[in-house]
This record gives sequence, C-alpha cells and structure tokens, in this order.
Amino acid sequence: MMTLDLDTLKRMVHGIITTRPDEIGCDECFEQLDRFVEMTLAGKNAAEAMPLVQDHLERCRACREEFEALLATLRALD
Ligand SMILES: [Zn+2]
Repeated sequence: MMTLDLDTLKRMVHGIITTRPDEIGCDECFEQLDRFVEMTLAGKNAAEAMPLVQDHLERCRACREEFEALLATLRALD
C-alpha cells in the first residue's frame, strides 16, 4: 500500500514558502548551475530563463567563478 509522506510534503512546501522569492542561496544556485551553463552553451538566454540564478551569479563571486570554470570546461570539451 502506498502512503503519501505528509511530513515530507509539508517540509517541502514550508521551504518553498519561507524562501524569499527574489533570492536564492549558493546551494540552490549550484543545483541549477549545470542547466544554466548548458543553456548558455546552447545559445539560449539563460539569464532570462533562470533570472534567480543570474541574479545570484551577479552578487556571489564564488558561484560566478564556479560558473565560469564550468563554462570553460564544457567549452573545452565540446
Ligand atoms: Zn553563491
């Protein structure tokens, strides 16, 4: 019998609601960074599609460097 884990769901929803909608942290940025880089490499407007990541990269030097390193690595591999 399949049961829905309500506690897990509640924690997820709580996390979504309590996170400021206009700001993401380094963990969240890092989680989405590979997709952001892939879009950039594909010539898509990653900044427009993922504005929160773009916003974080502009404010966070560590993530910006991570992004640039990832971008350079994937470009070298291509
Ligand atoms: Zn960061």
